[in-house]
Amino acid sequence: MTKKPVGWSTRVIHAGREPKQRTGAVSVPIYATTTFELAEVGRSQAGYVYSRTHNPTRSALEECLAAMEDAKHALAFASGLAAIDAVLRSTCRPGDHILLAHDMFSISFRLVDRVLSDWGLEYSMVDQTDLEATRAAIRPNTKVLWTESPSNPLLNIVDLVALGEIAHESGALLIVDNALSSPYLQRPLTLGADVVVYSTKYIAGHSDVINGAIVTDDDLLAESIQFIQNSTGGTPSPFDAWLVQRGAKTLALRMEKHCDNAEYLVEQLQRHALVSQVIYPGLVEHPQHKLAVEQMRRFGGVVGFRVKGGAEAAIRLCNSTELFKLVEGFGGVESSIMYPREMSHSTNANRLEPIPEDFVRISVGIEEPGDLVDDLYRALG
Ligand SMILES: *Cc1c(COP(=O)(O)O)cnc(C)c1O
Repeated sequence: MTKKPVGWSTRVIHAGREPKQRTGAVSVPIYATTTFELAEVGRSQAGYVYSRTHNPTRSALEECLAAMEDAKHALAFASGLAAIDAVLRSTCRPGDHILLAHDMFSISFRLVDRVLSDWGLEYSMVDQTDLEATRAAIRPNTKVLWTESPSNPLLNIVDLVALGEIAHESGALLIVDNALSSPYLQRPLTLGADVVVYSTKYIAGHSDVINGAIVTDDDLLAESIQFIQNSTGGTPSPFDAWLVQRGAKTLALRMEKHCDNAEYLVEQLQRHALVSQVIYPGLVEHPQHKLAVEQMRRFGGVVGFRVKGGAEAAIRLCNSTELFKLVEGFGGVESSIMYPREMSHSTNANRLEPIPEDFVRISVGIEEPGDLVDDLYRALG
């Protein structure tokens, strides 16, 4: 009898459990050790030598991350940015070019613009919803097409299948930052991406750990990224790896609730007289709604909207909510609100697609949806 393949949640919950644990512990232990006693010079006991290189708690997380995307390889990092840095240093050489999305997350942009360009990486930006413009922007030395879908914070959707084709036509790689969707809602490797990177905001889900990840099916790429990871040392502690894996086990449940609540809030916000536009890939009027339906299981917990009264009204709203905490970041069980123009995206606002001054971004948590609507309505006045 052939075994039935197990479902997504089953795989994710069981991946990385060591079958031969001595104690039978159902949760992977936190291996708080820097180093491992060797069997003899040049031979480890179980593949572990030094925790920067490999640690069993981190290995368990990496197996879980790979299971989420049905991928061959996953590597965990100390932050999303450490993951992005490692993947770019291993896929590009000084003198190579990378083609960025014009609305990409501005902190990732800062890494390219202010750090990696000093190392010799060339970059340019293009509106990747325009496929012809994207194809035309590829240069002979383009090694990476870098994209986000949905983008943070404007929630644009790009055609990952078409972008993969454009990249591959010229021998470049498609790398997708999938933080905003999470691997539960979107699996870019199945759509043609070569590498997927994460900040684990949603995967970990409880606003208690900074972590990043890289997922790929490519053996050589995985090997070279692992070399950079070990050589530059941007690895998570065993405790952080454990926190991310614990969060990952409930990602499916949380994400369904984030989506339920977001859909409800979108509906209610659209009814409010002071809200001029709601931006959510799940709305039929979103310009790339059809693509979102093709690429995503549901549309996530991050919602953008524009308020009447310009910057002043938007900032007043962000300062006035109670349940929605005014924070950088998204993806926690608690709802949050931010004014991207003067928060996460202020550093590079002049270079990237401008964020409208009346634009507010919320991350819808898993609280009672009625309470969330009340909070926003009260703060909108
Ligand atoms: C937060 C975020 C990052 C950076 O990740 P850190 O874990 O904060 O280093 C990169 N890309 C996107 C889309 C993000 O939201």
